[in-house]
Amino acid sequence: MFFDKQFAEMQKIANQIFENPELGYKEWKTKTLVEEFLKSKNNQIELNYFSTTGIKTYLSKDKPVTMAFIAELDAVYAPTHFCADKETGAAHNCGHFTQITTALSLYAYLIETEVYKNYDFNIAFVFVPAEEYLDLDYRENLRKEGTVTYYGGKPEAMKLGVFDDIDFGICVHAIGETFDEPTIEIGCDLAGFLYKRYHFEGKATHAGFDPFSGVNAYSISTLFNVGLGLLRQQVRDDQLVRFNPIIMNSDMSTNVIPNRVTVGTDLRTKTTAYMQETAKKLDLAAEHSAAALSGSVEIETQMGYLPFVQDEYLNTFVKKAFDKNEEITGLIDDRGGIAAAGDIGDLAFLFPCIQISYGGFTGAIHGDDFRMIDDRFVLEQFPRFVSQVFEEMNGHLDTSKFYKRNYKEYEQLIESIIK
Ligand SMILES: [Zn+2]
Ligand SMILES: [Zn+2]
Repeated sequence: MFFDKQFAEMQKIANQIFENPELGYKEWKTKTLVEEFLKSKNNQIELNYFSTTGIKTYLSKDKPVTMAFIAELDAVYAPTHFCADKETGAAHNCGHFTQITTALSLYAYLIETEVYKNYDFNIAFVFVPAEEYLDLDYRENLRKEGTVTYYGGKPEAMKLGVFDDIDFGICVHAIGETFDEPTIEIGCDLAGFLYKRYHFEGKATHAGFDPFSGVNAYSISTLFNVGLGLLRQQVRDDQLVRFNPIIMNSDMSTNVIPNRVTVGTDLRTKTTAYMQETAKKLDLAAEHSAAALSGSVEIETQMGYLPFVQDEYLNTFVKKAFDKNEEITGLIDDRGGIAAAGDIGDLAFLFPCIQISYGGFTGAIHGDDFRMIDDRFVLEQFPRFVSQVFEEMNGHLDTSKFYKRNYKEYEQLIESIIK
């Protein structure tokens, strides 16, 4: 069996990436590792590079339908994680390092056994930078200098045309729970989010001598925060609404009435329509909190990621493969959705996508103690399972069930949401 032969090498690679985490658009060491592995398995390989660290390569191009198997290259900013990079604070506590090992393992399997030649669809492997929405000052600089347009690696790749010739996508992701048996999850949707900044403006005066003619921007932000707390009663349960207002900067001293405070928050929902509706409520709360204390507010809105709706049809093949597989015994297929987000939501606007999740970890995802504990499952059984999903799809894909949209339509949608 191919995947057990590969296990030791995958374990080495997984450790190497885990111990060398890199933040989005800076995954240089990881990119080199991926490149070297791919070349070592196929000296004829053609690699296409995009944005900063992205790599795309095809196994074949001659068939009418093309799948993208997608792996995310980046780590999270988590300086207190036990294996964080001391200088950059990056840590692999979202498990992306095992997306890479799954992709590499599958590539090696397909190229060595040549089974892909029997498939009636092409496979492109796409290694994408910057899934985590963080390190935004750095990314804003990349934007200003024209290196990227989007903070997220997938929208950026979409803009660059990396996915133009793709018909459907498969992504995999670690589950942030510990299981006592090898477990996968299918059909779990993700929320989408907006990123909001409320710049409250007041008037600075002497806090002791003349607070009467000042306008306290910090008090406005407090009122706003209370308003948002009460507003939670007026948002729908079924929409997985989340907002997390924080003070973005603080330059206050006790003897001056603070005149500038910025509150930032994400706003997560299951649908873009409800995202827009709720954004209006947040904006109203900000405007009226400012007005109540005679101050003002300037509102900035940025798109985060679109909600991700898993493609039910494609997931039927995953379910079929699970039913036949005897190594993987646990299946979660009824969670519905969670309020985490990912730029797979943006990609799924273009064509049907699924994300198959897998256990084998312990600790809190994005927390300080997250790590892999079931190497055998994550590095051998799970990639083998994904190859079985490919087998299920081969010869059975009904492409009339697919949809296709282009980047222009995506761009228009984003503009309509943040206007
Ligand atoms: Zn994450
Ligand atoms: Zn992740």
